Amino acid sequence: MNWAPVVELLGHLLMPESCPVCGKLASPLCPECLEKISAPAPPLPHCLRCGGASPCERHGRRYEVRSLTLHKGEARELLLTVKYGGSGLAARKMGAALGRLVGENERQGGWTIVPIPPHPRACFFPRGDSHLQWMARGLSRAVGVPVRECLRWKEKRTPQKRQPDSQSRRAMPEDSFVCAGAAPERVLLLDDVSTTGTTLLRAAQCLYGAGAQQVTSLCWSVARRT
Ligand SMILES: [Zn+2]
Ligand SMILES: [Zn+2]
Repeated sequence: MNWAPVVELLGHLLMPESCPVCGKLASPLCPECLEKISAPAPPLPHCLRCGGASPCERHGRRYEVRSLTLHKGEARELLLTVKYGGSGLAARKMGAALGRLVGENERQGGWTIVPIPPHPRACFFPRGDSHLQWMARGLSRAVGVPVRECLRWKEKRTPQKRQPDSQSRRAMPEDSFVCAGAAPERVLLLDDVSTTGTTLLRAAQCLYGAGAQQVTSLCWSVARRT
């Protein structure tokens, strides 16, 4: 007798989730799908300030952002499904996959993962956790770096993607974030997707203002600049 379908069905009853990519039951995101999406070489790191390659001539690595993939095709669909469909387990696996962007020296202590905070009322998770908080946990476990949620949005504002155009996105106020207490000395700043890079830039500036010495941004995907 072939037990595989039975095992799969039991798994689905215990954990009623399916892979957001291939639809396989009882697998919040199968390793094969995750590997397929994130397998190509990650885009080159760039500087959030000038948009060019990082390290850059003006800022060194001070505003470096690294991403696993480009914000298109299956990578984009997966992110949107996880973000709005509320699969925490899939988000955690995506976070763990970001571990490949983290170097050896960044795993050896002294670094802290800080996720971009959820917008007020922008939460789709039963426990009140955003996909980014789940991604932070997955990344934390994968690289052995602790998480600290020290950033807050200063005031309610329209999320970046709902801003009418890129000009108003870039016009995001300098003081959009506040840091609760002193910032960690070395930060792995985490976001899901970097479009104009302004959210990460503002968050990095806030952390530098609160005493951080190095802020390196990590995100699942990056949108190519037009
Ligand atoms: Zn799958
Ligand atoms: Zn630069």
